[in-house]
Amino acid sequence: MSETPLKVVILGSTGSIGCQAVEICAQYPDRLEVVALAAHSSKKLLAAQAAELGVARTVLSQVDGPGALVELAELPEADLVLNALVGAAGVEASYATLKAGKTLALANKESMVVAGDLLMPLARPGQLLPVDSEHAALFQCLLGEDTSEVTNLWITASGGPFRGRKRNDLLAVTRAEALAHPNWSMGAKISIDSATLMNKGLEVIEAHHLFALPYSRIKVVQHPQSCIHSLVEYVDGSFKAHLGVTDMRIPIQYALSYPRRWPAAFDASLDLCELGSLDFSRPDTETFGCLRLAMEAGEAGGTLPCVLNAANEVAVAAFLNSQIGFLDIERIVETCLAGHCREDVVSIEQLLAVDAETRAKATELL
Ligand code: NAD
Ligand code: MG
Repeated sequence: MSETPLKVVILGSTGSIGCQAVEICAQYPDRLEVVALAAHSSKKLLAAQAAELGVARTVLSQVDGPGALVELAELPEADLVLNALVGAAGVEASYATLKAGKTLALANKESMVVAGDLLMPLARPGQLLPVDSEHAALFQCLLGEDTSEVTNLWITASGGPFRGRKRNDLLAVTRAEALAHPNWSMGAKISIDSATLMNKGLEVIEAHHLFALPYSRIKVVQHPQSCIHSLVEYVDGSFKAHLGVTDMRIPIQYALSYPRRWPAAFDASLDLCELGSLDFSRPDTETFGCLRLAMEAGEAGGTLPCVLNAANEVAVAAFLNSQIGFLDIERIVETCLAGHCREDVVSIEQLLAVDAETRAKATELL
C-alpha cells in the first residue's frame, strides 16, 4: 500500500487512548512509524512502549515540563500528532500541532472546548481528525455532504452508570460506582465526566467548533446501547448514522488511516441480530445539571467554556480523591461560571490565565 509510513507522535501514550494507539501502531509498522511518545509520569510504561516501537524520542512532561510537549508537536519529521492527553494540559499541544501545519488527531476534547475559537481558524480541511467516537461518527456521516444541507447533528449519550436516577439517588454515590461505565472502559477523568454527563456537554461544545453549527442544531439523544455513535439529519429528512462496537480502537485507527480504511486487528463485527433493539430517549438535564451548564456555557461562548472545563477538572480530581460528593461537582462548576465575567477569546495566554484563576477559585470552593 502506502510507500512511506505516516510519521506519528503520540501525546499521552500511557493513557487509555494512548495505549490503544500504541497497539494499532505496533500492528501496522509498515504504515505507521512512531517518532515520539509523551506521558506525564508513567516512566516505566513509556520506556516499554518506546522499546516496543523502536522510538528514540520520549518526553515525561512531569520532568521535562509542558514545553517539551509543544516541542514534540512541532517535530519537523512528524506528519500527524495524536493528542491523547487529558484535560486543558492538551491545549498548547493542539495549537502548536495545527500551527506547525501537521495533522491533528484529536482525542483531547478539552482543548477544543477551551480553545476552539483559536484552533478552528488554523485548521485546513482534513487537517483535524476527531478521535472522540461521536465526532468521528459525525465526521464520517458528513463526508461528501454539504453542511448547509444539515438540519441537526444528533450526538448519542449512553446516559452513564447513573442513567434513570434522580438527584436524591446521586447524593451518596461512590467513586467506584461513578467509575463503572456500562459500555466503555476509559481513563478516570472521562469516566466521571460520563457519570455527570459533563462529557456529553463537552462533546456538544466540541461538535459546535468542529462542524461550525449553531448550538440550536446540535442535539443530544440518550441511547443506552452506544451502538449508534452519532447521527446527522439532513434537510430532505434523511438521517445518516454511524454504528459499530464500543471499541475506541475503531475511531483511533480511522484517524490514522484516513482517508483509507484498514482491517481491524480484532473482532470488530457488530452482531445486529444479537443486539435485537436500539433504544432512544431524552437526556435528563434536571438530574444531570452538568450537561445543562455545559450547553449554557457553550452558547454564551468566549471564556466561559474555559471556566467550565477548569472548574470541572478541579472538582472531578477532588471527587476522585474522595474530598467532595458527586453533586458537588456541579455546584463548583456552577459557582465558578456564575462568578466569571465573560471575555471574547483572543489568545492562548488569556485562556491559560482564565484556566489558572478558575482552578484557584474552584479549589477554594471544595
Ligand atoms: P487517561 O487518563 O487514561 O490518559 C491520559 C494521558 O495523558 C496519560 O498518558 C497521562 O500520562 C497524560 N497526562 C495526564 N495529565 C497530564 C498532564 N498534566 N500533562 C501531560 N500529560 C498528562 O485519559 P484517556 O481516557 O486516555 O483520555 C485522553 C483524552 O481522550 C481525554 O481528553 C478524553 O476525554 C478523550 N477521550 C477518551 C476516550 C476513552 O475511551 N478513554 C474516549 C473519547 C475521548
Ligand atoms: Mg465521546
